[in-house]
Amino acid sequence: MYLKSIEVHGFKSFAHKLKFDFHNGITGIVGPNGSGKSNVADAVRWVLGEQRIKQLRGGTMQDVIFSGTENRKPLSYASVAITLDNSDHQLPIDYEEVTVARKLYRSGESEYLINGGTCRLKDVNELFYDTGIGKEGYSIIGQGQIDKILSGKPEERRELFDEAAGIVKFKRRKNTSVKK
Ligand code: ATP
Ligand code: MG
Repeated sequence: MYLKSIEVHGFKSFAHKLKFDFHNGITGIVGPNGSGKSNVADAVRWVLGEQRIKQLRGGTMQDVIFSGTENRKPLSYASVAITLDNSDHQLPIDYEEVTVARKLYRSGESEYLINGGTCRLKDVNELFYDTGIGKEGYSIIGQGQIDKILSGKPEERRELFDEAAGIVKFKRRKNTSVKK
């Protein structure tokens, strides 16, 4: 499984519809300060269901919507879609390619989609359990996070190992059935 593309439209500084295509190997994103490098990582966090405003470096969730510049009007929605190659079927879904999308309107209305079909945030979360990709995963290591992991509580570090070992989904299911 690997990330094939990220499509953004109206997300943070990306007013135009823009598609980043990734190929095998390592891709570096370079640019001057404030040019939007971190916004690309934020877009991936967001589409994976990030709800914590602080993680997205904003004040409210609407702050992810392009807010306009001197010569460009603000937009009414933000949308991000990521496409993953799933030919090894690591994601528990019967498709060779999986596109996950999220859209948010200024009105507060929002939606998630998996391969074009509307779904719940829960479905997005479940799709990525134990892959290391979900919003709690370790596929995005932000600035300062390595220090946090190293100096974190043992329980927090344990969560990372659980995810890597592939047992998160069983733990969640156990918790759900115990609650019921
Ligand atoms: P650095 O090298 O300093 O880390 P960077 O390339 O990572 O910079 P980002 O933090 O990704 O830069 O981008 C910041 C830019 O995004 C700022 O110019 C900010 O005004 C712009 N930005 C953030 N949110 C929005 C928004 N909702 N609408 C328009 N522009 C936005
Ligand atoms: Mg940055």
